[in-house]
Amino acid sequence: MQLVRQKEKSAMKRHRSGVVVLAALLAAAVASGCAAETGGRGEGAPGGPAKPAAGQPGEAAPKAGPARALDTYAEALRKKQAARAVAAKKWGLAKTPLAAPEPPKVKPRITTRKGFEVRDDAGLPPVFTTVPTKEKIVFLTMDDGAEKDPELLRMMTELDIPYSAFLSDYVTNDDYGYFKKMQQRGVVISNHTLNHRYLPGLSYAEQKREICDQQEKILKHYGKRPTLFRPPYGNYNRDTLVVAKSCGITAVPLWSSEAFPDHMEWREWDRDLHPGDIVLTHFRGKEDWKGSMPDMIRRVMKTITDKGYAVAKLEDYV
Ligand SMILES: [Zn+2]
Repeated sequence: MQLVRQKEKSAMKRHRSGVVVLAALLAAAVASGCAAETGGRGEGAPGGPAKPAAGQPGEAAPKAGPARALDTYAEALRKKQAARAVAAKKWGLAKTPLAAPEPPKVKPRITTRKGFEVRDDAGLPPVFTTVPTKEKIVFLTMDDGAEKDPELLRMMTELDIPYSAFLSDYVTNDDYGYFKKMQQRGVVISNHTLNHRYLPGLSYAEQKREICDQQEKILKHYGKRPTLFRPPYGNYNRDTLVVAKSCGITAVPLWSSEAFPDHMEWREWDRDLHPGDIVLTHFRGKEDWKGSMPDMIRRVMKTITDKGYAVAKLEDYV
C-alpha cells in the first residue's frame, strides 16, 4: 500500500500543471450534481436557484490555452446537466440524474466473479455482475424486448441516460425497427439468444444455434455482431461460454440487482448498490408488471440517484 501511495504522489507532482487539478475539481463538481442547479452562467437556463458549484472557476484571472479549453468543456457539461434537469422535471423524476464521469481511456481488466467459474475457463469470456471501478457509477441493462414503448426512447434520450439492450429474437422479431431506433440513439444491441431457452439443458449444438444464430440475426438487422452476451435467467455451463466465444462474444455481464416499477431485488447480502454494479431490468409493459417503462425508470433512477450514483455506459467499460 505504502509503495502505491508514494507512486501516486510522485505521479501527481509530475502532472501538477494546475490544469489537471482544475479538471479534477470540475469533474467533482459535475459528478456531485452541483452544476445541475446553477442554471449556467448567464445562459438563461431554466430552473433552480443560482447557487455556485464548489470548485467552479468563476472570477479567476483571464486564462489562456488549456485553461480556456477547460472552461468551454465545463460550460458544455453545465449546459448538458441543465437540460437534464429540465427533462427530469418533465418526466416526473424525483431528482435530476447525476452526470457520469468521463469514461476511462483504457477499459478495466474484467475477470470471472468468484463462484461463477466453469471448469477450465482460462480464455473463456468472463462472467461478472459488477465492473471493477472506484467511480460511483452503475450500468443499466434491459433484457428480452417484448415491450416496445416509444415513450422509453424519448425519455432516455431527453434524460441522456445510457443503457444497454440484450435482445431475444422471439420477442423482437415483430418489430426490429423499434430497436433500430434505439440503436440510432446510441444504445448498443447485445445478444440474449434466439428463443430464451434454459441453456444448461441444451446440447452443444442447440446452444450454438441459440447463441450464434442470434449473433447473425443482430448483425443482419443492426449491422454489428455483438461482443456482449447474457444467458437467459443467468444460467450457463461451460458449453455456453465455449460456444459464445466461438462466435465473437468477449464478455458475459450478468447483474447484481434487478429493477421493477415498484421495487428492487438485490443479489448482494447488503441489499445495496456498489461502484460498477450492473442493474438488470426488462422491456415489459403494464400487462407484465405494475407500471409502464417510464414508471420503472422513475423508480430505479430514484434509487440510483438517492444513493449518489450516476448511470454510465456499459460498453465504455466492457
Ligand atoms: Zn431474459
